[in-house]
Amino acid sequence: MTKAFVVGHPIKHSRSPLIHGYWLKQYGLDGSYERTDVAPVDFGEFLKSFRSLGFAGGNVTIPHKEAAFLGVERRTAQAERVGAVNTLWIEDGVLWGDNTDVPGFMAHLDASLGTGWERDVDTALVLGAGGAARAVVAGLQDRPLKRIVVANRTLSKAEDLVRDLGSDGSVRLEARAWETIPQVLPQARLIVNTTSLGMAGQPPLDLDLARAPHDAIVADIVYVPLQTPFLAAAAARGLRTVDGLGMLLHQAVPGFRRWFGVTPEVTPALRALILADIEGHR
Ligand code: NAP
Repeated sequence: MTKAFVVGHPIKHSRSPLIHGYWLKQYGLDGSYERTDVAPVDFGEFLKSFRSLGFAGGNVTIPHKEAAFLGVERRTAQAERVGAVNTLWIEDGVLWGDNTDVPGFMAHLDASLGTGWERDVDTALVLGAGGAARAVVAGLQDRPLKRIVVANRTLSKAEDLVRDLGSDGSVRLEARAWETIPQVLPQARLIVNTTSLGMAGQPPLDLDLARAPHDAIVADIVYVPLQTPFLAAAAARGLRTVDGLGMLLHQAVPGFRRWFGVTPEVTPALRALILADIEGHR
């Protein structure tokens, strides 16, 4: 039997076991996927010992993604770019780390908007400069956009992100102060919220979208609630919207493939299962 884990601290709210458990059953595989609560002080030891506990690998979540980045033996190019690892596996005896938030975000955009959506997007505006913003920017940099503007409450964090990711690809990357968002909005045909604003228990992201182009795409990576106040405001203006749940589902695909040898599908039934869980806990 193949065993995989999700490691974090705390870990009890993770929805990853629901996702992977669903796929294990769906594909009739003899495997398990379990939550593992490991405190930061013990994480280095966990990285060294999980093989001897019979695990093929697993997911890494808050607060261990940077420690996992430092602790693995080899990293994929996208993990290198983001500076964080959320997926671990063993290959030829070597401990590998990947960051699947990058393809997770992009796969969900493509699935929601159809391939070729970038044709009409010259400037993308990314709100926030935390860990998730790095994955979003790294994904967008591989697409034929002209410019990505990163606006953050703490300007220095946006500047750090631009310094760390800026040399990759041909897309111009700019850091902006939060207050300058209204000046960027008229050019922004893709607007992505990667801040925690709008998440249940947090204040809403209060941004006047009146100056955004009429054909702008508005994405939010917050998925609790599924329709954030920001997405509701965008929909009320008639803009195309992309919610955050698909990123969570799509980021799980590469890990499942590595551990269990099957490429799983993100289906409406899986989405409905996770959505029911989210609604049930609100
Ligand atoms: P993080 O590293 O802690 O970054 C948080 C970001 O939110 C920072 O840019 C921070 O700005 C900004 N922020 C927080 N409060 C703010 C406020 N009051 N006003 C303006 N900006 C504010 O967190 P993260 O890991 O990037 O995650 C961010 C969100 O994405 C969370 O809600 C998380 O659940 C979600 N997420 C979703 C997925 C998915 O699969 N859909 C994956 C990863 C993350 P400062 O730098 O100024 O503090």
